[in-house]
Formats: sequence, structure tokens, C-alpha cells
Amino acid sequence: MEKKISVCLTFDFDAMSVWIGTFHAKSPSAISRGEFGRVGTERLLRMLREWNIRSTWFVPGHTADAFPTTVAKISEEGHEIAHHGYFHEQAKTPADEALDFDRATAALKRVTGREPVGYRSPAAGLMPSTLNCLVERGFLYDSSMMGNDFSPYYCRVGDQAPPDGPFVWGRETDLVELPFTWGLDDFPAFEFIVTRNGVIPGLNSPTQMYEIWVGDFDYLHDRLGEGVYILTMHPQSIGRGHRLLMLERLVDHMRQRSGVTFKTMSEVALEFKKTTPLTIR
Ligand SMILES: [Zn+2]
Repeated sequence: MEKKISVCLTFDFDAMSVWIGTFHAKSPSAISRGEFGRVGTERLLRMLREWNIRSTWFVPGHTADAFPTTVAKISEEGHEIAHHGYFHEQAKTPADEALDFDRATAALKRVTGREPVGYRSPAAGLMPSTLNCLVERGFLYDSSMMGNDFSPYYCRVGDQAPPDGPFVWGRETDLVELPFTWGLDDFPAFEFIVTRNGVIPGLNSPTQMYEIWVGDFDYLHDRLGEGVYILTMHPQSIGRGHRLLMLERLVDHMRQRSGVTFKTMSEVALEFKKTTPLTIR
């Protein structure tokens, strides 16, 4: 069978927002870890240019405001800029979420001149209201859920998960899910984080990550033969030398295999909608 593999290299350019938002950091040391994201971004852009690969960047509005020139450059080099919240934290209410959402969209539009069509929730933390928020705003895809691995699917709204009764399935919408998974994400594997609740050790060797990342790719390519492989990386994490060398090794491996095409997330979502139209039941 002829292989048909799409590969999406995605980068969450969280910069300082992940430390300020998710980890509530006040220390300049902790916050400066995010600033390193700009250095990682420059290195990644150079590599992507050499490979002639277009990728997708999930950028918090906070990052677009802090690094407008860098974010504009990512967009000008042909990469897709997608939505990743404003402050990299979960809103407390649906009303707060809508405000944060639109503030982030405005920040991205100011810098790139375009409105994003894709979304990944900060720290894969969708609220029950988030998918509705995306559907109402006409978004093309989300990439925060784990209901499949290599196959896109249509998102449902209105699922209910009561703690004392059966799961209730909601209704499918035309919002495409391009699945995420923590195993194909560099952040938990590499980042050493001390929080009030304990220590996240991180600092895994890139060899360990290579084994997981290439293993999933080889299974998709050799056993399934068709699907989309989505890698989630953070410029501030993958941007360190030893990890970039691992990424080079992985991309070289993928480029040597048959039937592999690198695409942006919106390209994959549009193809999915075309080949697998939503049928309302
Ligand atoms: Zn993030």
C-alpha cells in the first residue's frame, strides 16, 4: 500500500506567559526561562528554512505583545500562526474565557494582519465552554484533545460527564480535532520545575524522547500507513543544543521515509473536511 503520512511540526511559543500564567511565577529567574523562547525560535526558523518545511505556531497573545517582531517574522516566513489564549492560563468563567480569547485574537491580528483559524488550549486545559467558543467564532480546528492519535475527528459540544451517571454524548460539530498527546510534547519531558506542590524533574535525555517520538512515527508509517503525526514543541525547551540535534535526527529520519509530507495544521484540517465530510446524525 502506498504510504500517506502528513507530519505537522507545531511549536507553542509560550515565552514568559507559561511561567506567569500557568506557574504564577514572580521571580525574574523563572520568567527569564520564557525569554529564552525567542532564542529557540530564531534557531528553529533557521532550521525550518533549510528544510523548506512550513510549520504551525501556537502563540499566546501575551507573546505576540512581548515579541511582535519575532512573531511577525514567523508569519512572514510562511508558517501558520494559531491561537493559544492570552495569558496561558485557564479562565475562571466562560465570560472571562471569551474576553481572554478575543484579546488574544486581536493581539495576533495586530502582529500578523490575520485572524487565526486554529486553537490549542494552554496546558491542554479546555474548559467545558471552550469548544462552543471556537464553534461560535467559526474556527477550523482545535488541537487540545486526545480521543485519537493519528486520525483527525470532529469535535462534539454538549458532552456531559456526571460523576454519578453514564457519560452523555454531545453533538458533532464541523470543528476538526487534530489530536494532541503529552508523549509527543517536549515540555514535560525536558523542563525541571519546582512548584509549591512538588518537583517536576524533567531533564530527560533527548535519546529517551527520540525513542518515543520515532516509535510513534514508525508505527504510523509502517503499520498504519496513513494518518497525521503531530509533534508539539516549545522553542524554550526544544531550543537547547542537544535537543535540536535530536530534532534534526528525527526530521532526517522522517524525510527519508516514503510518502511523508510536512504540512501546516490548517492544511491537514481542510483536507480532512474535504475527504471526510461531517454527516449530521
Ligand atoms: Zn503552551
